[in-house]
Amino acid sequence: MALKSWVESANYASDFPLENLPFGVFRAGRSAHIGVAIGDRILDLAGCFEDGLLHEDACEAPALNLLASKGRAAARALRARLQELLADGAPDRHRVARHLLPRKDAEMLLPFSIGDYTDFYASIHHATNVGSMFRPDNPLLPNYKYVPIGYHGRASSIVISGTPVHRPSGQTREDAAAPPQFGPSRRMDYELEIGAFVGAGNDLGTPVPIEQAEEHIFGLCIVNDWSARDVQTWEYQPLGPFLAKNFATTVSPWVVTLDALEPFRVPAFERPEGDPEPLPYLQPSGLGFDIHLEVSIRSAKMEKPQRISRGTFREMYWTFAQLLAHHTSNGCNLQPGDLLASGTVSGTAKDSRGCLLELTWRGTEPLELTSGEQRRFLEDGDEVIMRAWCERDGVRIGFGECRGTVGPL
Ligand code: CA
Repeated sequence: MALKSWVESANYASDFPLENLPFGVFRAGRSAHIGVAIGDRILDLAGCFEDGLLHEDACEAPALNLLASKGRAAARALRARLQELLADGAPDRHRVARHLLPRKDAEMLLPFSIGDYTDFYASIHHATNVGSMFRPDNPLLPNYKYVPIGYHGRASSIVISGTPVHRPSGQTREDAAAPPQFGPSRRMDYELEIGAFVGAGNDLGTPVPIEQAEEHIFGLCIVNDWSARDVQTWEYQPLGPFLAKNFATTVSPWVVTLDALEPFRVPAFERPEGDPEPLPYLQPSGLGFDIHLEVSIRSAKMEKPQRISRGTFREMYWTFAQLLAHHTSNGCNLQPGDLLASGTVSGTAKDSRGCLLELTWRGTEPLELTSGEQRRFLEDGDEVIMRAWCERDGVRIGFGECRGTVGPL
């Protein structure tokens, strides 16, 4: 049974019903305020705090780091209070209503000051597809089923949804007989991922046991890990991605808490017979999330976006609990607001592949767009729109959108 809010728009086909209440940061006047999304509105938490409706002092901060640093209990208590204030029949509704503003008028900012960003490779379907393009005889390297593979990304170039993304220049080598060239990437791609923002951190030298790993996750968002495939192909050996990845990463503005996602948990990916068990420090694996995902594209010639893939987060080989436990297993310290991204989310069906490299099979099977254009990789003027949501027993909560348009450098 869905909860009812006195904010009417929250009760009808919204990403943001009373069950969700994701946290974000928006600009109000000249300063940044924390808010939660409710229907087509934002509730200004700094305003509510000043008005005495909330008592959590982290509501006055210009980013979510302070709230996240207090651990999941603090965010849970705040969210429970917000549900009370926004529920149908709430006695304080007229006071609360003064702190609502239309979502469409708000400029969203990055939800956290992000100190570090790590990108994983947790979809075995993605890893197998990409591996089979480059190593047909040996698509999955022998470490994959033991080690949650990842690399340290770049936090400074993480941008909020809607920020234009510039096509990077870089070194590429199309012709193995000729020297490499430097110029604009001709194989620009997106990667559909889910990101986890770290809540409470851990001290340097103190691993987080897997049973406690989720206590260190504040919530999830959508991530687009923009990638220049031609640059990547030439540079990635022997140390992995570098300039092919660090020119831009887009995140959606609303952070959906694990508490909001609790009704949409599913068992972790069932390893097929013959796969090794995870090593003991990566067990129990914890649960997965039943998140639906889709990607649309709108070229400069198109009026409406066209959906090009739909997938699910259910089939990830590693859970976020395993990724976080692994990340800290050597004593590495995570800090509030660090971003851990899942890696490209792909399924077994062709239309569930989470990047153009896979969807067009390295450009050999171009996509047909409704405009009559073809796409192997992204062209200037293309907008990529990612959406994510959960739905069960008549309740639906959404992540909103993660958008970005590609333009020249
Ligand atoms: Ca990635």
